[in-house]
Amino acid sequence: MMPYSSLSDIQSRLNSGKSTAVEVAQLYLDRIAAYNDELNAFVHIDAADVLAQAQASDAHRAEHGARALEGLPIAIKDIFCTSNGPTRCCSNILDDFHAPYDAHVISQLKAAGAVLVGKTNMDEFAMGSSTETSAFGVCRNPWDTDRIPGGSSGGSAAAVAAALTPAALGTDTGGSIRQPAALTGITGLKPTYGRVSRRGIIAFASSLDQAGPMTRNVKDAAMITAVIAGHDAGDATSVSDAPAIDWLAACDAQDMKGLKIGKPSEYFVDGMDAEVRESVEAALKQCQDLGAEIIDISLPHTKYAVAAYYVIAPSEASANLSRYDSVRFGHRCDDPEDLLDMYTRSRDEGFGAEVKRRILTGAFTLSSGYYDAYYLKAQKVRTLIQQDFIQAFEQVDVIATPTSPIPAFKLGEKTDDPLTMYLSDIFTIAVNLAGLPGLSQPCGFANNLPVGLQWIGPAWREDTILSAAAAYEHATDWSTKTPAGFNGNGDAS
Ligand code: GLN
Repeated sequence: MMPYSSLSDIQSRLNSGKSTAVEVAQLYLDRIAAYNDELNAFVHIDAADVLAQAQASDAHRAEHGARALEGLPIAIKDIFCTSNGPTRCCSNILDDFHAPYDAHVISQLKAAGAVLVGKTNMDEFAMGSSTETSAFGVCRNPWDTDRIPGGSSGGSAAAVAAALTPAALGTDTGGSIRQPAALTGITGLKPTYGRVSRRGIIAFASSLDQAGPMTRNVKDAAMITAVIAGHDAGDATSVSDAPAIDWLAACDAQDMKGLKIGKPSEYFVDGMDAEVRESVEAALKQCQDLGAEIIDISLPHTKYAVAAYYVIAPSEASANLSRYDSVRFGHRCDDPEDLLDMYTRSRDEGFGAEVKRRILTGAFTLSSGYYDAYYLKAQKVRTLIQQDFIQAFEQVDVIATPTSPIPAFKLGEKTDDPLTMYLSDIFTIAVNLAGLPGLSQPCGFANNLPVGLQWIGPAWREDTILSAAAAYEHATDWSTKTPAGFNGNGDAS
């Protein structure tokens, strides 16, 4: 079997008896053993546990037939609580934490027969765009190991891009599925807010966080989302009457006849990488050839999205992270003098610099006297951004933009300058503020580094963006390109 196989390819092999789940699991475990030191994509692997899951899956298939993801390996970002192995959110504050239960989405994956491969590297508490704030060391981009894989789901992205796993789960609060997918040449889907339960996903910014798949192609993303989506009474923000869609049928689209694609002027601006822009413009031209109509639109409040996000997300984070008090779980400092000393020293030792910056910013923007000027104002801006999209979707079916203004940057290039780092999220953040579904898929190369095309849909219309992305994927070969250093085809043209 080829390591650079899609989930659906592997599923066919398993169904026809050409491979067993144990053989598939062993292939990826061997690749992790060979390449993880170089990439640092996984922060926890328990080979015996992976093989035991695969064995159980083969037994289930033999006795009861195959479930939706029977025997398919899926890696899990370290932000998801899993009853197997540690859950640390790549933070020292959770250095010895073992979750007592599975996140809802993990239970769904297990019930569908998936084999959970291990925990992937990420920015600490998902705060970052480069996977450099991880307490377990930086993760590297398989296309150029001197560069970052994006973030915060950089470990999941690097693992899929180098075929250490055929698929992974990520989370996206301001772009953390789509941006690393773009920078590593894979596909990533952030579902509509409320589509997927957040129970058991360590909270960063609760009104923005959403889980989704990172995969080799569009159909694989649909296969996973079909399993993890759905109402969960254990999460008040999981929507009970979300419109049902046919996830897999949406991926059968082979053309774009009659599709109205909005091209927002605010996402094609001076200052972005010229080759990124060219690749995305060329992709839109191709969509036109496939029958789509490209319509120039404006999302006028886009310029305020980064500022609003970097008030709202830290505000929610400062509240969410107050639970790490070292009393019931998590890191505790040695020999505390008293309660206050225990809180302050444990938190000081446990959190990294970026997390502290967010907590301090959030505590400030929520404080009395500043609340109206910052938090309330940012919420009003959020409403304006939502309205921009509502108006745009009166005119068009779907919106297409670059996912990131630049390709993968060098390790260390932006670590001393948080503002430049925050600006790398400029094209992904508004989607979270508006709660909309977004998908990134590969559409070319800039300086031999992958470029991502972002599709944004109206709320609950993941089927529209999956169809557009599937038709584009069908007509091009970008999603078949794989990096040279890891037995890939090394074709960046
Ligand atoms: N890069 C953004 C941030 O640092 C988004 C992170 C995310 O989506 N988790 O907040």
